[in-house]
Amino acid sequence: MVDLKTQYEHIQPDIDHAIQEVIDSTAFVKGPQVKRFQEHLEAYTGAKHVIAVGNGTDALQIALMALGLKPGDEVITPTFTFIATAEVVALLGLTPVVVDVDWDTMNMSVEAVRKAITPRTKAIVPVHLFGQCADMEPLMNLAHEHGLYIVEDACQAIGATYRFSDGTTRQAGTIGHIGCTSFFPSKNLGCYGDGGALFTDDDALAEQITAIANHGCKVRYHHDFVGVNSRLDSIQAAILDVKLSHLDEYTAARNRAAAYYDEALRDDPRFLVPGRLPQSSHVFHQYTLRVVGADRDRIQQHLKEKGIPSMVYYPVPLHMQKAYQDPRYREGDFPVAERLTECVLSLPMHTELTEEQLNYIVTELKA
Ligand SMILES: *Cc1c(COP(=O)(O)O)cnc(C)c1O
Repeated sequence: MVDLKTQYEHIQPDIDHAIQEVIDSTAFVKGPQVKRFQEHLEAYTGAKHVIAVGNGTDALQIALMALGLKPGDEVITPTFTFIATAEVVALLGLTPVVVDVDWDTMNMSVEAVRKAITPRTKAIVPVHLFGQCADMEPLMNLAHEHGLYIVEDACQAIGATYRFSDGTTRQAGTIGHIGCTSFFPSKNLGCYGDGGALFTDDDALAEQITAIANHGCKVRYHHDFVGVNSRLDSIQAAILDVKLSHLDEYTAARNRAAAYYDEALRDDPRFLVPGRLPQSSHVFHQYTLRVVGADRDRIQQHLKEKGIPSMVYYPVPLHMQKAYQDPRYREGDFPVAERLTECVLSLPMHTELTEEQLNYIVTELKA
């Protein structure tokens, strides 16, 4: 699905140098590389504050903690997403309220969110699934109308941009009150281990987030509240700083691969290519087809026999996960998400795909 080896080989001298510098300094934790990377990512994304943490799941958890949500508060999330989005809500004793998604973009349905708001709703967590922004303008308007927080799960969408109707453009993760991203190796900006970050323009929230990630401590050894220990280590920050300077090329390479798939598959009635939201760019963390006129699982088996990886992201919606059983929900409640779990198929998508590989993939897919 990804080719991190070839990607590394193209930037090997810079990466090796960056890693060696950290080892020579032995500042493995809280080294100057972390601050430098945060500043570079602030400049890149336009976020006023970037706070690096241990991974994307921690980022989501810390975001909800920073907002001071209380057990029983309702948090609205899409039912078609990676589990981490709802996991942190449940872990904090908050109540996940799940909503259906749109068939074309596979992102949270704004209408469904509107219907799910109750007096107990405190926050909405839109997920920019597969690298395309959820429809943020109406979501921000809803949040404003009802006094809700928005925490963006931008773990798959770093660098994606969203255009508002007044013409302003903002990056995924910098639109809501807090944005979260992941630097898991296979993410669009991936490190060589675990990493994540939070984005916010709010000075007070930034201070709170920094303290929560550091054991709830603003003054050393004085703990004002219960926090966690979550940080990006210096080696990962050094690697990410090198890779950030290539992120635009990487996004362009993903878009070229996506355009190839689109072109080859758009007119094939067996497949629906990923639907686009006109207001958003797409950074193609995944290229996810909907198989509508063929047997998805047989196709996947054929691809496997031909040495072509493919994945089903995601096979089970949140409301049908064993750990998230809830008497409020049953099978059939979220028909779009349920249908997607039965028909989605993600193709290899990364920065190193050659035309020869793409041609082979679509040829075997059609076969
Ligand atoms: C990867 C991912 C996460 C979690 O990130 P980790 O760094 O693996 O903890 C959360 N949400 C979504 C949508 C993701 O894709």
